[in-house]
Amino acid sequence: MLYALVIIDISVEVLDRAFTYAVPEKLEGIIEEGSQVVIPFGIGNKEINGYVIELTDKSEFDESKIKYIKEILPKSIKADSTLIKLASYIRKTYGSTQICALKTVMPVKKTVKQEVNKRVVSKVDKAALSSLAEEAKRKHKNAQERLLRELIKYSDISYSFITGKMNVSAQSIASLVKNDVIAINQETIYRNPIKIDRPEDTEHILSKEQQFIVDDVNADLNNGLRNTYLIHGITGSGKTEVYMKLIEDRLKEGKQAIMLIPEIALTYQNLMRFYARFGDSVSVIHSKMTQGERYDQYLKVKEGQVKIMIGPRSALFTPFDNLGIIIIDEEHESSYKADNMPKYHAREVAGELARLTDSILVLGSATPSVDSYYRCKSGEYKLYKLNSRLTGNTLPEVYVEDMREELREGNKSVFSRRLHSLIKDRLEKHEQIMLFLNRRGVSGFVSCRECGEVVKCPHCDVSLSLHYDSSLRCHYCGHEIPMMKKCPKCGSDKIKGFKAGTEMIEQMVKKEFPYALVLRMDADSTKHQEDYEAILSRFSNREADILIGTQMIVKGHDFKGVTLVGVMAADMAINAPDYRAGERAFQQLVQASGRAGRGDNPGEVVIQTYQPEHYAIERAKEQDYDAFYEEEIAFRALMLYPPVGNLLAVQIIGSIEERVIKLSKVLKGYIDSMSFEKDIQIIGPGNASLSKKCDQYRRVIYIKAIDYDDLIKIKDKIEFETEKFKLKTESVMFDFNPVNGF
Ligand code: ADP
Ligand code: ZN
Ligand code: ZN
Repeated sequence: MLYALVIIDISVEVLDRAFTYAVPEKLEGIIEEGSQVVIPFGIGNKEINGYVIELTDKSEFDESKIKYIKEILPKSIKADSTLIKLASYIRKTYGSTQICALKTVMPVKKTVKQEVNKRVVSKVDKAALSSLAEEAKRKHKNAQERLLRELIKYSDISYSFITGKMNVSAQSIASLVKNDVIAINQETIYRNPIKIDRPEDTEHILSKEQQFIVDDVNADLNNGLRNTYLIHGITGSGKTEVYMKLIEDRLKEGKQAIMLIPEIALTYQNLMRFYARFGDSVSVIHSKMTQGERYDQYLKVKEGQVKIMIGPRSALFTPFDNLGIIIIDEEHESSYKADNMPKYHAREVAGELARLTDSILVLGSATPSVDSYYRCKSGEYKLYKLNSRLTGNTLPEVYVEDMREELREGNKSVFSRRLHSLIKDRLEKHEQIMLFLNRRGVSGFVSCRECGEVVKCPHCDVSLSLHYDSSLRCHYCGHEIPMMKKCPKCGSDKIKGFKAGTEMIEQMVKKEFPYALVLRMDADSTKHQEDYEAILSRFSNREADILIGTQMIVKGHDFKGVTLVGVMAADMAINAPDYRAGERAFQQLVQASGRAGRGDNPGEVVIQTYQPEHYAIERAKEQDYDAFYEEEIAFRALMLYPPVGNLLAVQIIGSIEERVIKLSKVLKGYIDSMSFEKDIQIIGPGNASLSKKCDQYRRVIYIKAIDYDDLIKIKDKIEFETEKFKLKTESVMFDFNPVNGF
């Protein structure tokens, strides 16, 4: 007797375990691990779906009570065994249910009807068509006549055009097919997301530094080593060229490649280079694709046509049978962290996938995440540096403008005098300008315009947030004080909430420079992907002088005409109420600087701030990553923040405030009752930084620990206990080493 362990597709946490079913004889040899099946469930034997995760010939249960699997779910796709293992890693490491983890690793779950391109072709010559048309006319078969006359002009016409625009019925066509006048040709067409001609490839001879990386990685592989590598190189230093060479070498070994890039960088320019080099063996997936397009990608992977998959984090789940390399470009990007349960980090999951498939993992960035750099220092990853720009451009001149000084000298505008005069200069020279505003910190921090002091939590060393009721709160620990009237440091009354938006900047620009053509790009002006691309291409075509935007505009785009970049308020980034604020600020400032002077003219960058002495700003000005890292890691070590320690956010959401508060206290109680070998710190529960969103109240408990495993124990305990509550209006989520605010 053959048994199957089945994970059922139902979103009730109590049922989050495998159920044993018997495999009927007719399905033996057909059902495999990963098959999606239909099973009778519960007292009423309601038919529901599930995934087989294991086949076995033993069962602990009374044989007579075991039910049979009904059938394989029609049109379903089997989960690959590697992906099943990956799902179980994700569940264990980040929490959530087995079914939820399985669904995460299966972006394509069912077959989608293929698009068929039907065409009508004539089988007789023009003279014959002509006399047939005459005959049809005599018999008043108008539709047939129309078709025959069209076929004299074009011997091959699309079927849908004939039944559509030409208004000829399927019957009329069928009768001509029967008489052997025409034939219908069918071809399956893949919905190809890359719909352009293959461009010309320019392959470079690798520089010495680039070649060193490729040789060193290949030597490791030959010695049977499977390492993780980090390439630290500024934009334009040749990282992508190295990726392509490493991929090429794996393809020669008969292996496949996955390359992750942030969704926002999935631009035409980037894809074209891969398409030029590798042709149709490259494909791409992204979040805007239809189910049909996804399924076609899946088929092409299964049939071995596609060997390189490029995409955002879900591209990791491409079911290749012989994966050789995973690349994560811009590895520091926060979009690699999933924002729904399970909140996995693509970098860590890629590490596990590499381990399961015996592949290598290559990370790349101009401003590596503190996490990855820490792993290089500890010897877990291997570090390479690419130090020079291959395009020959020099790095721009960076000025830091002290806005306290501006105020003291009577300048109350949002533009420092230097930025103002440089904008004027560029407008006169018809060169382009980008103005960048960080939009993080929804509730805003409080700072003194006189001395630059920012009010911080004495316990957590992150900025306090100003709330509508004029209180200042720490959203890590809940520490709360009333808003002050005077600066605690210098006594000035110029202390207030810090808020600025792109729209406000746009108005100021229009007022100061009425003759400039201005484009604005932020979440409001780019509801659709097309809007986003339209704005970029208009700016790239020099249809505007100034582009104003949020972090969206600093990423990866090459605008040759830009010679001035202004960071309107670096304070927004460095004072975000988050332990990663310094890291993110540094990354954004370096990237923003990278936007200036990509063309022939050298660029200039103006960073405006009330805290010019902040290390993230000083190091970004000097473009000194290592110095930045040393200061940042010292702060993390002192406060036991990741990557030195580990942090778990237990997030509690619900529509009834009292219940959310009560639940968060109950959960804290569970954690208090546990004992650990090493010390842990429990912070909160407190309100989340967004304490209410879409009518849902949000609270959070933070736990800091040396060992990640202690956090997993806490997660397991909370999952186990909350199962009993049968929560209806509340939900509990886990975020390990959070990257995005909550
Ligand atoms: P990154 O990915 O680090 O931004 P790229 O690989 O895109 O860098 O390289 C930047 C530019 O330099 C590209 O235009 C690329 O074609 C060119 N390039 C890369 N490697 C070489 C090389 N060895 N010789 C000449 N040009 C190169
Ligand atoms: Zn002050
Ligand atoms: Zn605090």
